[in-house]
Amino acid sequence: MDRFTNPMSMFQSAVVRLTAGYILILMSISLLFSITVYNVATKEINERLQNFQQQFEEPSFNPFSSPNHRLFSELRSRQYDEAHKNLVLALTLVNLAILVGGGLLSYLLARRTLRDIERAHESHSRFTSDASHELRTPLTVMKAELELALQNPKLSKSEMRELLESNKEEVDKLASMSQMLLSFAKMDHAKLDFNKLDLGIIIGDIVQRYDKNAKRVRLSVANEPLTIRANQSSIEQLFAILLDNALKYSPADSQIDALLSRKGRRAVFSITNKGRGIPSDKLPRVFDRFYRVDESRSDGGAGLGLALAKEIVSLHKGELEVESIENKSTTFRVYLPLYQKTK
Ligand code: ADP
Repeated sequence: MDRFTNPMSMFQSAVVRLTAGYILILMSISLLFSITVYNVATKEINERLQNFQQQFEEPSFNPFSSPNHRLFSELRSRQYDEAHKNLVLALTLVNLAILVGGGLLSYLLARRTLRDIERAHESHSRFTSDASHELRTPLTVMKAELELALQNPKLSKSEMRELLESNKEEVDKLASMSQMLLSFAKMDHAKLDFNKLDLGIIIGDIVQRYDKNAKRVRLSVANEPLTIRANQSSIEQLFAILLDNALKYSPADSQIDALLSRKGRRAVFSITNKGRGIPSDKLPRVFDRFYRVDESRSDGGAGLGLALAKEIVSLHKGELEVESIENKSTTFRVYLPLYQKTK
């Protein structure tokens, strides 16, 4: 496995390269600074010693003895050498300390910088492998059923129908899964445009679309317009997921209560349906990708709806909550920040 296919070593080598880059910049600055200090300091030491010698050799300084120029020059040179040695030692130690300390800091900084990218990459890879696994399951079922049918030329009409129905279920599942996967991909990459939207209008339209005869959903909307800044198609998809689930996971003909209201600076949409509900130990997992409470249900669901809903809500800086009472009701609640006029 080369370093481009092994994400672990890919990130490790990225951390090493980034650390090396940081150290290179740090040491270039430090060395440049040291060279400047060295030049200025040696010049200064030299000039001062020279001045000192000149003053010392002035007859006015010691009128009783004649100055010994050679001795003073030797003394000056010794002082200079010592000062020079100490300066070089100090600068070397400082540079070594910067190299060690700065190297360590650079490594920690590089790791921190790349950690989020690494996490995103990991979750992306996990998602891709989960998705391929989930896409393979319905295809395997369809293939096995079709092969069995082809091997049996005496298949009755009703058996044939059963097979086609089962195949259609799998196709529905694949279609819904690919639609959801596409939405996830858009969420990750596309630069979505955000506009001012009236939540009441959006939700009213979705309810009409899903509850065509206005039989099951009782929608109540705040009197005032609740405007948010959002990506229209994602927001429509969010409410469509919640409404579709409420209709799907409740007894036929049972009533669904939906309420749009305002709470401070946020709009709150809650939707409650009756039914078996979600066991409390399974509640925290309902937002996981590919998680289904009842795996045996064959309604075309792939366990991606709520994960996508959660992603859409966090894209809009909101919150999504769930509450469920087993064998009674389930409520999903969405909080979205209201559009604030900037003065
Ligand atoms: P899917 O509907 O494709 O299974 P979701 O991510 O939308 O996937 O939902 C995950 C699981 O959460 C569902 O399998 C279902 O068991 C449960 N669930 C979702 N919405 C409701 C609801 N309104 N009432 C009861 N259970 C629900």
